[in-house]
Amino acid sequence: MNYQPPDDLLAGRVVLITGAGDGIGKAAALSYARHGANVILLGRTRSKLEAVFDEIEDTTDTRPVVVPADLEHLDEASGDALLKAIEDEFGRLDGLLHNASVLGARVPVMHYGYDEWHRVMQVNANATVLLTIKMLPLLDVAEDASIILTSSGVGRTGRAYWGAYAVSKFAVEGFSQVLADEHEEAGHLRVNSVNPGGTRTTMRAQAYPQEDPQTLPTAEEHMPLYLYLMGPDSRGITGRQFDARSWPGPSDPDTE
Ligand code: NDP
Repeated sequence: MNYQPPDDLLAGRVVLITGAGDGIGKAAALSYARHGANVILLGRTRSKLEAVFDEIEDTTDTRPVVVPADLEHLDEASGDALLKAIEDEFGRLDGLLHNASVLGARVPVMHYGYDEWHRVMQVNANATVLLTIKMLPLLDVAEDASIILTSSGVGRTGRAYWGAYAVSKFAVEGFSQVLADEHEEAGHLRVNSVNPGGTRTTMRAQAYPQEDPQTLPTAEEHMPLYLYLMGPDSRGITGRQFDARSWPGPSDPDTE
């Protein structure tokens, strides 16, 4: 991987990150802020978001904002309230990283509880769609905006016992393609999906309890790709599927 972004890559940009309190979302929030972005930290555990906020305030000159919100309960009204809050504070949105997800049950479909299925689809897929719809007017105001959707290997090839998680990630991939196609001609909003691949986080440990986490890359190791897709160097790149663990860098013809 040969991408070395400048320190001011995201200077002045406003970026909303879901699931910003832990794992890959936390690493992205810190990395984006260190590269100059004003980050909006959305997540369900206030204390985790505040810890990220404090670290950003202590180490950068940017203006982070904490938005405690459970995506399971995101609805039109809370989406509108968030839109208004961001509009009042910043007037536009330059980037949106859909990162928050829940794993759900790891059982055969036959034994999957429907309530659980619905919850996973709500957090991983439906909330992603609704949040995007609500934020599009603000993304439209930005000259050069980027949406990153977080997929998974099982969002590209289904596998046994991944249930609603896999199906929700297929939905995310489909949504990413529809959205990218709708905005391709206008040219100022790019939309891409990222499969982080096995990464040393709480979710991965939950999915693979027997695995030695030390054998996995950290979330920080994926940040060059997350920075590239959020920043101006990826202008014109849209509707693509990326794999963080095998991304060779932007100058390689096989980047996507
Ligand atoms: P983590 O479980 O470590 O972090 C997920 C974050 O999302 C947490 O901060 C969590 O909040 C937040 N979150 C979960 N549910 C909600 C909700 N209902 N409302 C708001 N925030 C919520 O996950 P990872 O960092 O591992 O995963 C990040 C993304 O990468 C996910 O989309 C995942 O599917 C994907 N991915 C991860 C892989 C891996 O190996 N780690 C592999 C492939 C894909 P809280 O801290 O409060 O629980």
